[in-house]
Amino acid sequence: MEYFLYNDLSMQVTPIQCLTDNYAYIMVDDNSKMVGVVDPSEAAPIITFLEKKNLKLNYILNTHHHFDHIGGNLELKKKYNSKVVGFINDKDRIPGIDITVTDNQIWSFGNTPVKVLHIPGHTLGHICFFFEKEKMAFTGDTLFSLGCGRIFEGDHKQMLTSLNKIKNLPKDTMIYCGHEYTYKNAEFCMKYDGNNIDLKKKFEKIKKLRSKNLPTIPSSLEEEQKSNIFLRCDQNDLKIKLNMKNQEDFKVFRKVRDLKDSF
Ligand code: ZN
Ligand code: FE
Repeated sequence: MEYFLYNDLSMQVTPIQCLTDNYAYIMVDDNSKMVGVVDPSEAAPIITFLEKKNLKLNYILNTHHHFDHIGGNLELKKKYNSKVVGFINDKDRIPGIDITVTDNQIWSFGNTPVKVLHIPGHTLGHICFFFEKEKMAFTGDTLFSLGCGRIFEGDHKQMLTSLNKIKNLPKDTMIYCGHEYTYKNAEFCMKYDGNNIDLKKKFEKIKKLRSKNLPTIPSSLEEEQKSNIFLRCDQNDLKIKLNMKNQEDFKVFRKVRDLKDSF
């Protein structure tokens, strides 16, 4: 799989399929000539791409410490002398970390400001890299297209707060997540929110893409707001469908997350 996704600025982002269903994202800034990768699960497919384009790798950005997001760190760092960027509290869990970042910090990728958002829940040190001008958010295993990550280290309240942080970004933000789980997530959303017209439309789009083995990522935040059941736990129509009218948002979220865990 190889193609470019252009935005109106100078940044090119290419999803690289890793392991079975992971995505790493290679970012090339045509202006500053900076090259970065988000969440390299493994080094080989990243190296193949970079060598074909005759590029070096300046930065490795990690959303969290899980193996399928950091597996390629050390090999890539050794080969390209790249700098590894990760959350300060996870400095002992992210291999090869050079640059530690904190919540709300603006880190610079060449000339491009990148806002770091701490979004605990899946892991306690999970972060999102938000490229405000480029309208891109790298959400790792917190927000997926039509889904959200499992809660391994945090609790439901934390995860919902983290999802709401992403949900409140500008709606034309494009969501770049860590896995191609979209089809299965869509089936789950359809089971409990099947008469949602936006969801139905999105499901048709997803079916077409996956039948051609194309990525469903990036997905726009606006579409996620309308069709991702985990971003709809504050909506009365969904609460009614789940027989949870007037219940607190986080309780609805906990219910939906539990249903997904056994789906
Ligand atoms: Zn993970
Ligand atoms: Fe993962």
